[in-house]
Amino acid sequence: MSRRGGRLPVMAGTASAARLAVLSGPSGVGKGTVVAKVREMYPHIWVSVSCTTRAPRPRERDGIEYRFVSREQFGQMVAAGELLEHAEFAGNLYGTPLAPLLERIAAGTPSLLEIDLQGARQVRASMPAAYLVFLTPPSWAELERRLAGRGTEPADVIAARLRRAKVELAAEKEFDEVVVNDDVGRAAAELVGLIEAVCPT
Ligand code: 5GP
Repeated sequence: MSRRGGRLPVMAGTASAARLAVLSGPSGVGKGTVVAKVREMYPHIWVSVSCTTRAPRPRERDGIEYRFVSREQFGQMVAAGELLEHAEFAGNLYGTPLAPLLERIAAGTPSLLEIDLQGARQVRASMPAAYLVFLTPPSWAELERRLAGRGTEPADVIAARLRRAKVELAAEKEFDEVVVNDDVGRAAAELVGLIEAVCPT
């Protein structure tokens, strides 16, 4: 379910900038899983491939889920102005390559970024007409359960994650729309519906 109706007309910029939607939200809420579902079920939405310095996880493919780069390469991309936004998360660098995104926007393709809150704020500042969607958990208890993971981590690590999640949840008010991740397929369908409403194809 969406918790915010009557979004203000934030598409004050050019019509083409409205082709860009950004999905963000607290860590642990399941942004990656929802976006994986969008990629699988809604191929007409172009999903940006971020660069990251983190090591690939099993089954992650270079150029598909992420473009995996060294810190040096990442630094060069930042210096050359090749990233729309970038941020450090859990000791790794992440960024959105600008050129492929601008190409898709110019072609009129609805485009989606899945980025952390720091990145979403940078996009809001540099592309004010972008459409920002906040993914939130169905309840605090559910997010707590997800962040506690398999229960194998030290209590202070989990406590730090929970403190951070509380702060991150408060960012909801900075966004144009809120989607509750109660079910991955449903949340992905709602997200796509919202994107189609603001970026008609
Ligand atoms: P993970 O390493 O679990 O795939 O992602 C960690 C965090 O980095 C997630 O919150 C994800 O949304 C965020 N992230 C992924 N790509 C980007 C990006 O290009 N820019 C920013 N700012 N955050 C990103």
